[in-house]
Amino acid sequence: MSQPDVMDKLVSLCKRRGFIFQSSEIYGGAGSVWDYGPLGVELKRQIKDRWWNAMVRSRDDIEGLDAAILMHPRTWEASGHVAGFVDPLVDCKACKGRFRADKLEDARCPQKPSKQPGQHDTCQLTEARQFNLMFKTHMGALEESASVVYLRPETAQGIFVNFLNVQQSMRQKVPFGIAQIGKAFRNEITPGNFIFRTREFEQMEMQFFVEPGTDMEWFETWKALRMQWHLDLGLSPDRLRFHQHSATELAHYARAAFDVTFDFGGTLGFQEIEGVHNRSDFDLTQHQQYSSKKLEYFDQVNNKRYVPYVIETSVGADRVTLAALVNAYREEAVAGEDEGRVVLGLHPSIAPIKAAIFPLTKKDGQPEMARRIVDDLRGSFAVDYDETGSIGKRYRRQDEVGTPFCVTIDGQSTGDQTVTVRDRDTLAQERIAVGQLKGYLAGKLVG
Ligand code: ATP
Repeated sequence: MSQPDVMDKLVSLCKRRGFIFQSSEIYGGAGSVWDYGPLGVELKRQIKDRWWNAMVRSRDDIEGLDAAILMHPRTWEASGHVAGFVDPLVDCKACKGRFRADKLEDARCPQKPSKQPGQHDTCQLTEARQFNLMFKTHMGALEESASVVYLRPETAQGIFVNFLNVQQSMRQKVPFGIAQIGKAFRNEITPGNFIFRTREFEQMEMQFFVEPGTDMEWFETWKALRMQWHLDLGLSPDRLRFHQHSATELAHYARAAFDVTFDFGGTLGFQEIEGVHNRSDFDLTQHQQYSSKKLEYFDQVNNKRYVPYVIETSVGADRVTLAALVNAYREEAVAGEDEGRVVLGLHPSIAPIKAAIFPLTKKDGQPEMARRIVDDLRGSFAVDYDETGSIGKRYRRQDEVGTPFCVTIDGQSTGDQTVTVRDRDTLAQERIAVGQLKGYLAGKLVG
């Protein structure tokens, strides 16, 4: 066990401090479904914004898309999901537990959690049977088989079916990509580990269309770019690793696949957070066949037509949010104090609150000055005003939610118009002129 298991502590911190709540908690909760609270929604949104900026805004060769969750049911026949999006399911007749037959080593026997399902004397596992993970529902007023639709289990198919719409409307030339962020749904047999595996989650996917023959080169390019993105997010290099899919793990149409894995600590250890796949021309060819519409690209320069190959990058917004939280959580001793502190060392660009503003006392014009500073900064950053409790307690509260800077207005401030800025990680305090505060913070928050 390399990294400590911080999951239980994180779940409790996330609830207490408004990051993540269990869904419908007042009714006893919905199984493995979570709601993002005020600080959680900011954290996840900023992670999505970083992805969107890196993939769409900063590149000429990738276009954005927001396709609908409900799609024509033929989509899922063509993609292979109706026939093949299955996990092997086993039941235990003794405890009524349900497990994924291929992930028994990750599961705990409900009767004896120190063992895997099947290892306890009383376990009675059934034969594995195939279970389709797609949520089915009905479109329109009639519940008949003709009206069956699915909640999409991945966002990618919305991109494939819009390949020509985007290419032609935006006059893109291969190689180019299409990116989108959106909800996906999978009726997972064994969801769990907080927001790691849930039945409703958000994906950030990009399909990059390339000329056959150039695909492996592009695959390597995207593999490297995506790993760098996780490093830039502040995930620790020693917690990130590639996992190459072996021949038995590879989907039959895939030419190569690597997962970016992150060390979540404890028994979970290294787990996939993103997949980078060379999907060949499988998806576009399938949709051509099932829709009877050509999905070819015409290369005007070389006067040739072909179905492009696809390099896919697919990452879970919730899973990366969890990775960022696990990566950031630390407990430390504080010199000269009995009580230590809990810190979320989040990358400043994704911290839900960028700066907290404190008047040292509630008198002598300090709250008024602090309020003026809050009003001035608010247009540029998410800031928090706090005047309750000792200054030490206020620092602790901000450390625990990952606020990179605390600005204190003290007796000197009202006279010489300076404030102290405390750095979350180094604990160093600097005195800054109020007029320079916005620029100072902006400089520290970029990247
Ligand atoms: P797993 O093997 O863990 O079920 P997968 O290989 O099926 O995952 P992909 O289909 O490649 O996953 O999905 C791409 C990304 O979407 C994953 O890397 C993960 O970040 C995210 N993801 C997939 N399933 C879930 C889920 N149930 N809950 C949260 N995120 C998910």
